[in-house]
Amino acid sequence: MSTRISHWIDGRVSEGTSGRTSPVYNPATGEQSGEVDLASAAEVSDVVKKAAAAAREWRSASLSKRSAVLFAFRHLLQEHADDLAEIVTAEHGKTLADAHGEVARGSENVEYACGVPELMKGGFSEQAATGIDVYSIRQPLGVVAGITPFNFPLMVPLWMCANAIATGNAFILKPSEKDPSASLLIAKLWQQAGLPDGVFTVLQGDKEAVDALLTDPGVAAVSFVGSTPIAKYIYETGTAAGKRVQALGGAKNHAMVLPDADLDVAADAIVGAAYGAAGERCMALSVTVAVGDVADRLVDAISARLPKLVVGPGNESDTDMGPLITAAHRDKVAGYIDAGASAGAKVVVDGREADVPECGFFLGTTLLDGVTPEMSVYTDEIFGPVLGVVRVDTYEEGLELINANRYANGTAIFTRDGGAARQFQFDVEVGMVGINVPIPVPVAYYSFGGWKASLFGDTHMYGPEGVNFYTRGKVVTSRWPDPSTSSVDLGFPRTR
Ligand code: NAD
Repeated sequence: MSTRISHWIDGRVSEGTSGRTSPVYNPATGEQSGEVDLASAAEVSDVVKKAAAAAREWRSASLSKRSAVLFAFRHLLQEHADDLAEIVTAEHGKTLADAHGEVARGSENVEYACGVPELMKGGFSEQAATGIDVYSIRQPLGVVAGITPFNFPLMVPLWMCANAIATGNAFILKPSEKDPSASLLIAKLWQQAGLPDGVFTVLQGDKEAVDALLTDPGVAAVSFVGSTPIAKYIYETGTAAGKRVQALGGAKNHAMVLPDADLDVAADAIVGAAYGAAGERCMALSVTVAVGDVADRLVDAISARLPKLVVGPGNESDTDMGPLITAAHRDKVAGYIDAGASAGAKVVVDGREADVPECGFFLGTTLLDGVTPEMSVYTDEIFGPVLGVVRVDTYEEGLELINANRYANGTAIFTRDGGAARQFQFDVEVGMVGINVPIPVPVAYYSFGGWKASLFGDTHMYGPEGVNFYTRGKVVTSRWPDPSTSSVDLGFPRTR
């Protein structure tokens, strides 16, 4: 049975009028489960006007009213965690446990935004000059849009909308057309939490909707998370249209393992971070940099763990790794394994040969040894369950490799030497660093973002940088003079 998946406009599900739709699949069965509406430019324009009207009202809501809505929303997310996780698993394919992790990490952003009265506090300088006070306030931008990727259909929208709405904006979400249904439950929960209709909108769509959002003069800012070529396009198009843009792109995250590392700790962590969510995470560790004589032992330890992983439907309790998002993506990932083998990498574990369910978009885990920087398995973001091992002789060689990579989202070092770890933290040119921590996604009260081709713009996502992104500063200089002391003075005002 194929379900129609529509927009959420003005507090209700709203069927699209463009006549264009896109199929949605259950990746574990390979069957089409839904059909999502794709908004036209005219529908986008109409929705932006509605959102602008809602934003004008919402910015007047008191901080305590906004905070109360956020607390209620956070409570509802927890109450509906099972429903949310099931929707994510059905359309994305990740395991239910992983989907619950997505709910939990997304909810942290809502918890952070519950503190909006504290987050929106300005500064005050009494008597900046005689009889003059100066103070700063932060105000919302108006209508802001979020364009999100398929791999976190719940968490990434929450990275954005919690802070955007808490700070007094109206938020338009354009989810991935591959797994659009979670967005509609998020919308219902916002409504149940007491958010006025029109403040949170879901506009389903593809490039046509994105392009319309990027150029509509009613949209003040765009947050984007997705692949690097599209992130670059979003940044260039949005900023050319005068908008604030933060565009987070793809990744190729390296784990450096020093010879003194605890091998079991490192192998467990790397296996989890390379193959969790079938490698479809922007913080997945897809390259292991094995330093010195650790390489053989590490490859053995990783390959020994892989046969124990159960590949299957995400909603079965013993499954460790689910399918990939589409058949085309599964085939593309398998093509990278072919290319790696042809280029001379040793296929230690071959996911193409794995015993996986026949229906659905499954691929087993792959471990490639002897990967070198020229191979496409090294240069490209594969976004699948493929881990490449690059062997280097020294820490310096490994560091140079990581710093030369065009991506710089996350990285991790495994060692028992605190001094070496601290040096790595100092030296490495990557936005998020884990020390014996494989997926160092910052907690919600820090901000998330990479460097280089993993981020276009200068603002990271969520946390303090998210609050700044969705607000603009205003500084007020005020005096209440005694009219009897007033006189004309043409001089440039100086502080006295
Ligand atoms: P994607 O770039 O294909 O799509 C992301 C969004 O952009 C979707 O909403 C999609 O509809 C839209 N889009 C796609 N093509 C477009 C076009 N030509 N013009 C305008 N809009 C377009 O990414 P994806 O495949 O959904 O997600 C996987 C990618 O996202 C990976 O590269 C992954 O590393 C990255 N990602 C990055 C982060 C991060 O924080 N840096 C987090 C999650 C995912």
